[in-house]
Amino acid sequence: MSPEDERRLGMEFMRQVRASLKLVDDISSKEYIQALGEKLASQVDTRGQTFTFFIVDDSTINAFAGPAGYIGVHTGLIMAARNEGELSSVMAHEIAHVIQRHLFRSIESTQSMSMATIGAIIAAILLGSQAGGQVGEAVLASTLAGAQQQQLSYSRAHEQEADRVGIEMLASAGYNPNDMADFFETLLQASKFNQHSIPEFLLTHPVTISRIADTRGRAASYKSVPDKKPAKGEPSAFDLVKTRLEVLSVKNAQQRPIVIEFEKTQNENVNHLKLYEMALRYQELGSFARAQQLLNRLLEAEPQRLAYILAAAENEIDANNYEAAIKLLNRSILIYPDNLALNMLHARASLLDNNPSTAIRVLENQIRTGRYEAETFKLLASARQKAGHKSEAYEALGNYYQSLGEFNTAINHFEEALKETGDNQFRELRLKAIIKQLKGDLISNHTAP
Ligand SMILES: [Zn+2]
Repeated sequence: MSPEDERRLGMEFMRQVRASLKLVDDISSKEYIQALGEKLASQVDTRGQTFTFFIVDDSTINAFAGPAGYIGVHTGLIMAARNEGELSSVMAHEIAHVIQRHLFRSIESTQSMSMATIGAIIAAILLGSQAGGQVGEAVLASTLAGAQQQQLSYSRAHEQEADRVGIEMLASAGYNPNDMADFFETLLQASKFNQHSIPEFLLTHPVTISRIADTRGRAASYKSVPDKKPAKGEPSAFDLVKTRLEVLSVKNAQQRPIVIEFEKTQNENVNHLKLYEMALRYQELGSFARAQQLLNRLLEAEPQRLAYILAAAENEIDANNYEAAIKLLNRSILIYPDNLALNMLHARASLLDNNPSTAIRVLENQIRTGRYEAETFKLLASARQKAGHKSEAYEALGNYYQSLGEFNTAINHFEEALKETGDNQFRELRLKAIIKQLKGDLISNHTAP
């Protein structure tokens, strides 16, 4: 399978994921999971593979790795982990599956199938349990390649290899290598107490006593380090994200009594994690000024902490204080110039502040760094539309749908862009080339790879 085939397969897989699962759209949480995943992956030779990490809004405990480096983590898994090391152990395991090309080694005998079919099969199997079935990683190989017995043991070998490479990543990223065995134990305990709610992850990654023992044995060969504690009394990035996901998952009716209770207490001495939690609750309830007061206390303690800056900027945007948001963001863009979350918020605030040209500049620069998501193009389209650049706006929408794997819709938008080029021959030629390429892709998508 060529890298180009794999890239298209990855897009097809993500199209299926978006259609069947609810993804977390919170800018801070997305930033966190991507940065954590990249840190883990950078510990080993990824053979040029890039990764996209995303959070699935699902309370079951699961994670999965699709083609082309797309790795999904359920909110339930983040909630079940006691620290970043435990969460990292599962992410490292999934990264290892990708690097070792386990998925492709399992589907090598499917040459005669079309990309779309393989993509659909992978999605059905990896996401099968969400769709009601109970097929998992272990079943993947047998479904696709027959020879059930042999394939299942092959799959077990994949699991062992992923554990081994995963622990290596965990240890070199500075986490306790025992975190993997610890987390497996927690999951196994959880499933013993409640036969009806076996964590999804265990269905696709059968954890046995011997697997835990193996994992523990491997960890012993690494120097054991205690899990990193953040500076005195400061919450860890993991705790902040866990809090965010928890607050964002409840309805406003549930936020209100907690806020009322908080107001009754002496809130001078509460810890920073609690302040952060309450700021988010006030923001959810629309009490932006009160949220900002609490966020300011956090920013006083740690002026450059990314999670605080993002939260404060989002709160200012919600409160229609666009200039204040931009001021905050500008301060930290100097420190994290290519940060996607900071620049997306900056562009959003600039656009709302009737300054589309700044939004366009910020987004175009961000896209040039290669760190962007489909939403980046959507925002760029709005900015260009507002600036009166009609053809360019259509082009950005074309890029947006292309990123989502919606190729027919993408072609329609590039064709609209083509109609609006005026007498710009360079743009006309470029757009025609893009359309030709996409149409070619669509045809080869339906033939054998
Ligand atoms: Zn696995």
